[in-house]
Amino acid sequence: MRLRNIPRARDTIEASPFVVQKPEENKGNWKAVFENEHPVYLEIGTGKGRFILELAQLHPEINYIGIEKYSSVLLRGVDRQNELQLPNLRFIRGEAELITEYFAEGEVSRIYLNFSDPWPKKRNAKRRLPSKEFLRRYDVILGNSGTIEFKTDNRELFDFAVEEVPFSPFVIDAITYDLHADPVMNEGNVMTEYEERFSAKGNKINKYILKRNPDFPAAES
Ligand code: SAM
Repeated sequence: MRLRNIPRARDTIEASPFVVQKPEENKGNWKAVFENEHPVYLEIGTGKGRFILELAQLHPEINYIGIEKYSSVLLRGVDRQNELQLPNLRFIRGEAELITEYFAEGEVSRIYLNFSDPWPKKRNAKRRLPSKEFLRRYDVILGNSGTIEFKTDNRELFDFAVEEVPFSPFVIDAITYDLHADPVMNEGNVMTEYEERFSAKGNKINKYILKRNPDFPAAES
């Protein structure tokens, strides 16, 4: 994601009623934000929010939250949501690293990771959003039937992500190395901004879906 400092980004984000300014204050109480009991789905690293804006329009029975680190990137999604005013969509300008500060145990039903930053140097492996360190954080906030869906065109990152799963409390429920050619996994697929860009160049899209591994030993604390 190319980063430009957009002067109005911070002010627009701070003024939007669709951006939760202090997410840690809603920990355990997100039902009150949406004023219903619907399941909560997150996209971590939502970028300009295209994917989650489309999902929120398609599925009014689900509550969506897009989390993005950079104001200048998130701005586009917030502008669009300020126009659309979808009742089932919020954004957080925040960090994946703080996810367990934002959500209580079992409060989330699904996590989407789309085209996460690859962090190619080995010493940065822990920063990759599908790393076992992050999977353990997701384990805390996901309910028992919670799932994680990860898509990327980056085969090295995807291979890394697959290799991390056995060290996590999850198992692979479904996997493809060419999403758009897989009639089952591609059904109902909503393209992200990066997915559209990279598949137009001929890159194949990898995807897995994780579910809980009932045999995983309880984490030592
Ligand atoms: N998901 C979008 C898509 O598929 O089009 C954007 C993909 S972009 C390559 C990755 C996004 O994740 C960037 O906007 C980046 O700022 C955000 N990001 C990376 N690490 C993050 C973190 N630790 N917490 C929150 N957002 C993060």
